[in-house]
Amino acid sequence: MADDIVVIVSLDTEEDNWNRSRTDVTVANIRELRRLSRVFTRWGVRPTYFTAYQVAIDPCAVQVMREVANDSGGEIGAHLHPWNTPPLLEEFVPRNSMTKNLPPDLQLAKIRTLTRTLEEAFGRSPTSFRAGRYGIGPDTIAALVSCGYRVDSSVSPFVSLEGVDDGPRFVGAPIVPYRLAPHGDVRQPVPDGPLIEVPLSYGFNRGPFGFWDRTRRVLEARPLRWLHLAGLAARAGFGRRVSLSPEYHPVADMLTLSKQLLGHGARHLHVSWHTPSLKPGLSPFAATAADVDRLYGSIEAYFEGLAGLATFRFVTVSEAAAALLVTRGDAPVAAMQRPPLPTCSPAAACDGITRAPPDARPRRSAT
Ligand SMILES: [Zn+2]
Repeated sequence: MADDIVVIVSLDTEEDNWNRSRTDVTVANIRELRRLSRVFTRWGVRPTYFTAYQVAIDPCAVQVMREVANDSGGEIGAHLHPWNTPPLLEEFVPRNSMTKNLPPDLQLAKIRTLTRTLEEAFGRSPTSFRAGRYGIGPDTIAALVSCGYRVDSSVSPFVSLEGVDDGPRFVGAPIVPYRLAPHGDVRQPVPDGPLIEVPLSYGFNRGPFGFWDRTRRVLEARPLRWLHLAGLAARAGFGRRVSLSPEYHPVADMLTLSKQLLGHGARHLHVSWHTPSLKPGLSPFAATAADVDRLYGSIEAYFEGLAGLATFRFVTVSEAAAALLVTRGDAPVAAMQRPPLPTCSPAAACDGITRAPPDARPRRSAT
């Protein structure tokens, strides 16, 4: 049995609007974190909440998040949805939803806004980051470093999003944490880089990963695409790409991938999903209350199954970076010892309210 494994559970903590929007943005799903937090507490999960701007400007959502982060010793990181994080100087078109496609100055300005808003909401600076749609690029790394971030978790190894609104290509990225340098290739480790990348857990349901990665790319190449060979190959039992996402994959596949990742040298497993999936009818993964219950069932079944595969402990993404890499300075370790978040308003104040009244959120008008 593998031992000394760390398990990260991270949530893209974001608005209800699965379809990108700058108007009529609501954040009712955040209240569902209270239910999830009870599960986390039972399992000892130390979650990482990568939090979007639209959540951080809603006082009721912030109140819930302070509660749940304190309950479980969670970490609040930053999650950039550039399409509705000021300044909104760019055109509202699909390609601009990938942060890397924006001018470097605009990337920096949006990350500054997000960072400042999270500081105001939670009383401390976030040090970990995930790009919305995983749309990180070389200039994003530079912006993150200049805003004081130490950890990124946007890289999805073996995945190419080039065909998705000109997104990033992660093929060739390590499956283990590594360091990044400003303006460098997000897949390329730089020994003394200031930003630690803690990649998401992607791989194949059988090894070796390198073989299946090459095979899959050949099968998906344009001349063969009409044959749907990649899909046929997957159904025939060839290597399938899997991630540790209870939204996309059944528990059995997640456990198989976990075994494969550990066999390929990974010492962290990174489970991730989106908070809108916690409330019926918001994300494509949870249309009904039964779907949400199934998601909860999957999460717990995965933890149970994992206990049979490995000896592990739950950590936040910054704790994982500190545990898995020799860190420069002691900031990530200090992050583990942070005091509880301050709570500033009565818990009952937001009960029954799914959206703060406009006058309570003056900064929203700035968008
Ligand atoms: Zn997102």
